Amino acid sequence: MMKFGTKAIHAGIEPDPTTGAIMTPIYQTSTYVQPSPGQHKGYEYSRTQNPTRDALQNNLAALENAKHGLCFASGLAATDAVLKLLKPGDEVLASNDLYGGTYRIFTKIYQDFGIKFKFVDMRDLNRISEHFSDKIKMVWAETPSNPMMNIIDIKGLAGVCKKFGSMFCVDNTFATPYLQNPLDQGADVVVHSVTKYLAGHSDVVMGCLMTNSDVLQEKLAFIQNSSGAVTGPMDCFLALRGIKTLHIRMQRHCENGRRVAHFLKSHPKVEEVHWPGFEEHRNHDIAKKQMKDFGGMISFVLKDDKLDDAIKVMESLKLFALAESLGGVESLCGHPASMTHAAIPREERLKAGLKDSLIRLSVGIEDVEDLIADLEKALG
Ligand SMILES: *Cc1c(COP(=O)(O)O)cnc(C)c1O
Repeated sequence: MMKFGTKAIHAGIEPDPTTGAIMTPIYQTSTYVQPSPGQHKGYEYSRTQNPTRDALQNNLAALENAKHGLCFASGLAATDAVLKLLKPGDEVLASNDLYGGTYRIFTKIYQDFGIKFKFVDMRDLNRISEHFSDKIKMVWAETPSNPMMNIIDIKGLAGVCKKFGSMFCVDNTFATPYLQNPLDQGADVVVHSVTKYLAGHSDVVMGCLMTNSDVLQEKLAFIQNSSGAVTGPMDCFLALRGIKTLHIRMQRHCENGRRVAHFLKSHPKVEEVHWPGFEEHRNHDIAKKQMKDFGGMISFVLKDDKLDDAIKVMESLKLFALAESLGGVESLCGHPASMTHAAIPREERLKAGLKDSLIRLSVGIEDVEDLIADLEKALG
C-alpha cells in the first residue's frame, strides 16, 4: 500500500484518457451524450456522476484507507446525508461539544422529524454505557472537538457501539486523515468538512463521507443522488489540487501549533490553553495513541474571563485574521461564543467549558516567529 504523501498526490488519479493531461480536467458538464438510449460510459448526468468528482472521491477514500468516498456541497450537506439514514423514533448519542452547525442541524432540523438527540460527555468511556439503549441507532463524535480540543477514545467507543448495535460516525475535520484514521479504529462512517484542512486554501466549501461498508455506501450514494447536495467539478478540482500538499501542510500546522501552544501557556495573561499535545491534557495518552501529532487547532481563555478583553485581543491581531472557518494556510482567530457556537445556549456552552473569553486559533503555516510576535503584541 502507498504511504500517505504518495496517496495524497496519486491515489484515484489517472492521466486524462483523451489527452494524457496529468491534472484531472474540470469536467464542467451537466450531461453526457449517449449514442443510443442507455448506451453510456458510466456517466449519464452530473448530479449522479462526474469524472472530476469521481477522481476526488477515490482520492479521499484512499486517504482514510476507506473503500468508498462521497463528496457533498458542504460538510453539513455530508452530515445531512448521514442523518437521512435515520427514521422517526430513532435516537442519536452525540458528544456535548460539537461544531455549532452540527448541533444546529441536529436540534433545529432533524429533531422536528422525530429524531432524538442526547448530548453527553464522551471523554470517560467507563460511564458511556449508561447512556445507551436499543433506541440509540447512531453515535456521533468529534475528536479533537471544536473548540474545546477534547479527545475521545475512538477505538474504545467503537467497541461500545458494536456491543449496542449502533452505527458510529466520527467527524474527522480537525485531525484530517493525515493525523488519524477513525475507520481503522472501528468507526462506520467518517465525515469531513473538506472546506477546512483537506482543501486547505480557504477557497472551497465542501464535505465528504468515507466508509468501508458496501451497504452504507449504497444507501449514502442513493441519498447523494436523490437529495442532490452535490459539489461542482470546479470545486472538486480545487480540492484535488489542495490535497496534493496536505501532508506537508499538516506537518507545518503541527509544528507551528506546538510552538504557539507553549507560548500561550507561558503567557501571564492566559488562564487556560486547550491543546491535546500537553501532557496534562485530560486525554493526552489517548491522543498520543490514536493521532500521529496534535494538529494546529488551539483554544485559550484569558485571565478573569472577560469578553471585552478577548474582543480587544482579536481586534489587535494582524496576522491571525478574525474569521469563521479554519484549516487554511493562513492563520485565523475566532470567538466561538459569538461566532461558530452562537447557536448553543450560554448555559449549555458554559457547561462544556466554552467560556466567554475563549479564543480559538487555527494556526496557519506562516513563519511561526511572526505568529508569536503577533500574539505577543495583541496580548499586550
Ligand atoms: C466547518 C465544520 C463543519 C461543517 O462543514 P461546512 O463545510 O462548513 O459545511 C463540520 N464539522 C466541523 C468540525 C467543522 O469544523
